[in-house]
Amino acid sequence: FPAAHLWLNQPGLFSERLQPRRRNTHKGSFGDVAVIGGAAGMGGAPILAARAAAKCGAGRVFVGYAENPPAYDSAQPELMCRHADDLDFSTATLVVGTGLGMADAALALLVRALEAPSWLVLDADALNLVSKQPLLQQQIAQRQHAVLMTPHPLEAARLLGVSTSEIQADRISAARKLASRFNAVVVLKGAGSIIARADGEAVVNSTGNPALATAGSGDVLSGVCGALLAQGWPHWEAALAAVWLHGRAADQLVEQGIGPIGLTASELIPEMRLLLNQL
Ligand code: AMP
Ligand code: MG
Repeated sequence: FPAAHLWLNQPGLFSERLQPRRRNTHKGSFGDVAVIGGAAGMGGAPILAARAAAKCGAGRVFVGYAENPPAYDSAQPELMCRHADDLDFSTATLVVGTGLGMADAALALLVRALEAPSWLVLDADALNLVSKQPLLQQQIAQRQHAVLMTPHPLEAARLLGVSTSEIQADRISAARKLASRFNAVVVLKGAGSIIARADGEAVVNSTGNPALATAGSGDVLSGVCGALLAQGWPHWEAALAAVWLHGRAADQLVEQGIGPIGLTASELIPEMRLLLNQL
């Protein structure tokens, strides 16, 4: 790929999508997000993604649990928590994988999501399941709507069948390889996240800092990606904006003394909302 196709992420690459809300809109205008995840012991992960989706502008947000759905999220009662079997996968942007687990039931949910005619964000255990299933890999690449994938380096290594150090040794080409193999928009996470797409275009992100190295931080990112897709953003701009906002929120929180030590993933969410409204 020519070096000219490597850019630094900045709001100018996506700001065209930030339009003021028209007066006569309703929640249907901003789309539904359904976060699919939450195996036993991992119930918080999809909640984090769902809260991020809600506070980044999705019209309605559902959480589809692989098992044991809570009645609701008491800190964010706007979220609709259900068993994933009781969710319509065809009418929402799907964010699949946060705390999903690797059980057969999780695989069945992933298959259902891949077959749905929906925008799709694949994260965490959805990616780990895909690594083990060559048929699903083919299905993703051939899907009518390209997917957005958000692997961290270990997840990327599993997907490409190499070691994490090989991924880290050339992050840009790893991201490009994943994007072209899966015909996807790929966010290779970690310090200096790379956003790549199937035609080889790649962008390096410079916002963010080690405060983000904390549990749940990736779940929040997948939720923002889902919210922007649900609001009609193209995958590429959604990925660029989500990664930029997520990192910038962490940078601003650190400036306020909320981190790098002890920043929690939840705290990123209102800061990202502030940025979205100010941009
Ligand atoms: P996950 O590993 O899925 O929880 O995702 C972690 C998130 O935090 C990703 O968006 C990473 O890019 C980000 N992150 C983790 N560590 C760092 C770091 N040292 N500098 C910048 N971003 C980071
Ligand atoms: Mg993660």
